[in-house]
Amino acid sequence: MLTDKPAELKTLAGAIASRMRLYQMLGVDFFPGSPASVSALDALLCVRDTLGDCRRCKLCTGRTNIVFGSGNPNATLMFVGEGPGEEEDHQGLPFVGRAGQLLTKMIVAMGVAREDVYIANVVKCRPPNNRPPQPDEIAACRPFLYGQIEAIRPTVICTLGTFATQTLLQTQQVISSLRGIFHPLRGSRHACDILPTYHPAYLLRNPNAKTQVWGDLQKIMLRLQWPSPRGTT
Ligand code: SF4
Repeated sequence: MLTDKPAELKTLAGAIASRMRLYQMLGVDFFPGSPASVSALDALLCVRDTLGDCRRCKLCTGRTNIVFGSGNPNATLMFVGEGPGEEEDHQGLPFVGRAGQLLTKMIVAMGVAREDVYIANVVKCRPPNNRPPQPDEIAACRPFLYGQIEAIRPTVICTLGTFATQTLLQTQQVISSLRGIFHPLRGSRHACDILPTYHPAYLLRNPNAKTQVWGDLQKIMLRLQWPSPRGTT
């Protein structure tokens, strides 16, 4: 009926506004057009919905914002770090502090934009004083990282540092013995390759390791059949 139209439009506008707020919480700034890509985004939204205002571990007490992740829900490459730092906690976005700026430079050096990949962490809330996440915190948050991976279905995941690498490879081996080699993702229904490398925060303290990390990123580019940026071959 004609008289119902304004009410219907109001309901529709409310639903769209609510969906847009969820997109903002996800850090999604990419709006896909194909049905397949919409389903990746919907799956990611479902994971974020399930996480809600999470209180599943003690890290909830000190956080300002949950840092869920950001980037392209259809990314072929995903980066996974350890957990949010002070700036990330403040902004609600992953890798936006000094280490994050270095990660952004690394991504650009690969010939793509930060918005082309997806970036997340093992734990979504900042550990106090930037201490490493504890086993119970990783166990509580890990299902949501796996949910993100299964929504995005990347071809390669680059794990940054010890905690992301040990979590996704389900091992206690140290990063130096795993770095620079492709390993199968463990514990997920989605099959993909993991390429561990050093965390950008480690590179800030040890700039000499940048050469090794660049070598690791080039292996990823080769696996994804990305062209080498000019001047790097
Ligand atoms: S770290 Fe993860 S499991 Fe713990 S409160 Fe935050 S979102 Fe929940």
